Amino acid sequence: MADYDVVVIGAGAAGLMCAIEAGRRGRRTLVADHANKVGKKILLSGGGRCNFTNIHAAAENFLSGNPHFCKSALARYTPYQFIEMVERHGIPYHEKKLGQLFCDRSAKDIVGMLMRECEAAGVVVRTRYPLEVLDGGPPFHLTGPEGPLRCESLVVASGGLSFPKMGASGFGHRLARRFGLDVTPLQPALVPFTCEGPLRELAAALAGVSVDSELACGDGVFRENILFTHRGISGPAALQVSSYWSPGQSVSADLLPGRDALAWLQARKAKRPRARLGTILSEALPARLVERFPGAWSRKATMQTLSDRDLASVAASLSDWRFVPAGTEGYRTAEVTLGGVSTEALSSRTLESRAVPGLHFIGELVDVTGWLGGYNFQWAWASGYAAGQVV
Ligand SMILES: Cc1cc2nc3c(=O)[nH]c(=O)nc-3n(C[C@H](O)[C@H](O)[C@H](O)COP(=O)(O)OP(=O)(O)OC[C@H]3O[C@@H](n4cnc5c(N)ncnc54)[C@H](O)[C@@H]3O)c2cc1C
Repeated sequence: MADYDVVVIGAGAAGLMCAIEAGRRGRRTLVADHANKVGKKILLSGGGRCNFTNIHAAAENFLSGNPHFCKSALARYTPYQFIEMVERHGIPYHEKKLGQLFCDRSAKDIVGMLMRECEAAGVVVRTRYPLEVLDGGPPFHLTGPEGPLRCESLVVASGGLSFPKMGASGFGHRLARRFGLDVTPLQPALVPFTCEGPLRELAAALAGVSVDSELACGDGVFRENILFTHRGISGPAALQVSSYWSPGQSVSADLLPGRDALAWLQARKAKRPRARLGTILSEALPARLVERFPGAWSRKATMQTLSDRDLASVAASLSDWRFVPAGTEGYRTAEVTLGGVSTEALSSRTLESRAVPGLHFIGELVDVTGWLGGYNFQWAWASGYAAGQVV
């Protein structure tokens, strides 16, 4: 029987980081993945350039049943520690916006770095290596393609449900439940909205139009672009609020963010009384949007014919446009899964199960979900690091 100190199930961001840290501490470590390659989501991420961290990452950027839970791990492994590793490996990177760090070349650089670190730490890495957990421990008994295995610590890093094509499975959630750990309700997040009826027709007519907006839904308020698509509404601001949305809820969009829309229209009326409303609006919004946007006002009306009441109505429809999405595109295109192994079942310092000593859950599998912008990888690195110090 193969005997390891640590077995990590899932060679994604969190699992590889945990294995590296355990290996560095001299623990005999196996990291096994059922997919044909390690780090498939890393390779796919950030449009192939991996937004590998966010320098502003803090607990406020995460959704969780316990908003304090992620603090301990995030404090002990900061974005700067990961940046130090990236720089040590000579990987060029840049800040794109809002603290988001991307590789200059390719996400392959990050996977290559993690593999070199695994090798240096003496970690055994196996792909196409599904494992079955036979019984709880410690020690834990497992069986895999080469027969039975035993380990003192078992780390489950098998990720969420999003992008099933990339190897996502419900394995970790099932295992958690089997060991008596609660799993909070799961939902696709960081995902485009789909629309039906007139809203879908509007979105399709505007497909490709992108506009700086402030979107609000529940506790989530984000200022970034939205993008109209043939199916609905996407773009970074829409993806961000999707994590705060539940079916039936409306989303409010300010299409003229950062300005007092009425005061602006009044000022433009004073300056250009003979200009058409559509012309004025096109100064701040894409012309196609102005043309199609629903509203009981005429784009052809000249500014001087519009009363303050008319302008207030135009301002309100653009600064608080409310729509009710029909749904989301689901796990097929969601970047992450909202919810996961309950934080109540785990130690925030070690990510170890309170009920089953030696059993750890890390990364996206846990009920800690980051905003768009490098936060999810930072959680994967930090939670992997935290578990890697104690297994
Ligand atoms: C298209 C896309 C783009 C993204 N871009 C970014 C970005 O730029 N920045 C960012 O911060 N986040 C991004 N994310 C989110 C980020 O990829 C995840 O949050 C992160 O990968 C989670 O890491 P993880 O290690 O927990 O899980 P994963 O990276 O999903 O790794 C889990 C691993 O477990 C394996 N596995 C699953 N089931 C089993 C099983 N039964 N047995 C063995 N192995 C198993 C999988 O094959 C996989 O390799 C993106 C996600 C997607 C889908």
